[in-house]
Amino acid sequence: MLRGQIALVTGGSRGIGRATALAFAGEGADIGFCHIDDAATAAATEAAIRALGRRVFAARVDVADIAAGRSFAAAVEAALGPVDILFNNAGANIRKPFEDMTEADFDGVVDVHLKGMFFMAQNVYRGMLVRGRGCIINVASQLGIKGGPNIAPYCAAKAGIAGFTRALAWEAAPRGIRVNAIAPGPIDTDLVRRNSPEWQEAFKARLPAGRFGTAEEIAATALLLAGPHGGYYVGATLSPNGGDVMH
Ligand code: NAD
Repeated sequence: MLRGQIALVTGGSRGIGRATALAFAGEGADIGFCHIDDAATAAATEAAIRALGRRVFAARVDVADIAAGRSFAAAVEAALGPVDILFNNAGANIRKPFEDMTEADFDGVVDVHLKGMFFMAQNVYRGMLVRGRGCIINVASQLGIKGGPNIAPYCAAKAGIAGFTRALAWEAAPRGIRVNAIAPGPIDTDLVRRNSPEWQEAFKARLPAGRFGTAEEIAATALLLAGPHGGYYVGATLSPNGGDVMH
């Protein structure tokens, strides 16, 4: 389905990024991915992509460092070729009451998510414009839709990502580039496992689906958006979320 295509995945070492990199590779794409402070897991992901018979280029890159992100995108293109698909996924979170959030906390979260995704999209967009085709998928969150306590910068950044997705989609679609977002609900990854077991059980108990999603279920949505069956999604925010938010 994606044979001959090059996909750039940020935060591809583990969790949703890893599952999506493997799903894309399984459909024939070569993969460039970055991660942060995750060398052992990244090496395992690289090996898994190679085992699928695909080429891979991986590096430790902080996407909040805009110049480093630009160099990484150029390095992916030098190693593998022009990027056809961007899965803009890298992210982390800080939990604190609003009154205790510092400017550094705000910048730390917003720079990785909103600013990092904005400029990573720009890094691949110019080449996509020249070729007249491409696909950009930004990872937002259901928390950007419904909000939640003690995660104000994260919710603000994720809502911003959905807004950015819609704005860019207007410019990009007439030029052959589809831009969409995925807003996952709670997914069983390190990001969620960092919360206490009690917190996790209470969350599951009030979810209509009664369980957290899997990274593979988000990868399946990414595959839909990136593949030939996703051609009519433009500026959409798809939200596989177990019923946490219905709209
Ligand atoms: P995870 O912690 O399992 O993986 C995060 C990945 O991002 C890792 O590869 C890590 O190395 C990388 N990363 C983190 N900060 C980075 C940085 N500054 N620069 C480069 N790479 C960085 O988390 P996950 O659950 O797979 O999250 C992936 C994305 O999905 C994030 O954007 C997250 O906000 C979003 N999301 C997750 C959930 C969930 O419940 N897990 C729900 C909604 C949205």
